[in-house]
Amino acid sequence: MTKQTISSAPIRVRIAPSPTGDPHVGTAYIGLINYIYARQRGGQFVLRIEDTDRTRFVSSSEQMIFDALKWVGLSWDEGPDVSGPYGPYRQSERTEIYREHTEILLANETAYRCFCTAEELEASRREQMAAKQPTRYAGTCRALTAETIAANLEAEKPFVVRLKVPSEGSTTFTDELRGAITFDHFNVDDQVLMKSDGFPTYHLANVVDDHLMCITDVIRAEEWISSTPKHVLLYGAFGWEVPKFWHMPLLRNLDKSKISKRKNPVSLVYYRQAGFLPQALLNFLGLMGGGMPNEINNGTEKFTLAEMIEHFEVKNIRLGGPVFDLTKLKWLNGEYIRAMTPGDFYAALRETVLSDAYLSEIAGLIQTRVETLGQFGNLTHFFFADDVMPAAEVFLPKKRTLEETLAFAAEQLAVLEATEWTKEALEAAMKALGEGKEWAVKENFMLLRAIATGGTMSPPLLESVVVFGKARTLDRMRRFLEGQKKLAGGKK
Ligand code: GLU
Repeated sequence: MTKQTISSAPIRVRIAPSPTGDPHVGTAYIGLINYIYARQRGGQFVLRIEDTDRTRFVSSSEQMIFDALKWVGLSWDEGPDVSGPYGPYRQSERTEIYREHTEILLANETAYRCFCTAEELEASRREQMAAKQPTRYAGTCRALTAETIAANLEAEKPFVVRLKVPSEGSTTFTDELRGAITFDHFNVDDQVLMKSDGFPTYHLANVVDDHLMCITDVIRAEEWISSTPKHVLLYGAFGWEVPKFWHMPLLRNLDKSKISKRKNPVSLVYYRQAGFLPQALLNFLGLMGGGMPNEINNGTEKFTLAEMIEHFEVKNIRLGGPVFDLTKLKWLNGEYIRAMTPGDFYAALRETVLSDAYLSEIAGLIQTRVETLGQFGNLTHFFFADDVMPAAEVFLPKKRTLEETLAFAAEQLAVLEATEWTKEALEAAMKALGEGKEWAVKENFMLLRAIATGGTMSPPLLESVVVFGKARTLDRMRRFLEGQKKLAGGKK
């Protein structure tokens, strides 16, 4: 079993989000636990941006991660925006470091160059599937001769670098919540460490950085458990000590499936814009998994971040998936709202759903459409409601059935999810969808208008959804589809 002792070293933990879209509520959850763990031990909490997967990179996402974490109230000691002694903290700025480390592994033969083409890999995968074997790298390039490698390099054949997982035996590590976990090497693939474009994969970059940044405790979601044996082998390949691993249970939807945007809003931007209070959200996340003792504050389930730092025990977290119950979060949020002074409540409204910036954008959309200022509310109520639920007379186009309309609404949702939130991009995406599915522009936009605004008339639609925001618009669309599903279920 590998040695896992970075004893006596000052505690250093990190979160390592990838900027691939809206900041996720799971990032706040894992961030909270890391933050508490560091603060309880006088340690350091590091924010590292893992942006080496260029295919999934979203440029606005990094700033959104910073903003969302600051909004919930978690501050980091080192990170791309505050620097620190172990920077850079953005992996795309560390590619030279990964290259140097790949050379170390090639030299000590714990990794090897793989020249297999995509077609060859696909053919081998098919063969394995046909033979009902697990699909994994077949090992073709594990033992190439020095001459073959030199000739391939000379011919400039593209290659990746793979970890040479021992063909026999197993790797065991300790998970601080679960105890010893063993993976048979037969089930561990020869992981790609360096891609042919010269960018590292998550596995290599993550291990190199955790080591170079002196991370003592890796506290992350349990979906990474199956990657951990590869990481442990990598630590061994470099001759490094292994940090402690803590894998936190995944947050779950009410039906116990892994939390997903189909069933729950998962974007922190949504929670902010919909007017959840950051202290209520943190409190709620602190309730997940049972790290807080029950008797705190007479079992009210209400506690502050300072109280969490005082009483939370990461080692007491239970492994049964904690349920992210939105109804409970709303109840808790309501408790916080009722505890506010009227002045604080008003101030909170003015900072969020009634902020100057929001109101002035809305005013800009309706100025030419009113005759008196008093008509402001007639045209804008949907900007201030949490949900709108149009009746069938409102959303159903004359010539369409309910079924095809709901199917098309689901398509609209999928398209808008993947669209940049500007009027131009939305317009192009909506039109392309309508043309592809033979929905007239008018029908297409009327349906979206009904779902987004609840009515048949509104200020300019796309400008309105841009102001209302992506996270809240998508949530409204999902709730509409869910609501319709329930109605259909009820009729059976
Ligand atoms: N970049 C990974 C993520 O997006 C980090 C996982 C880890 O903490 O090792 O969650």
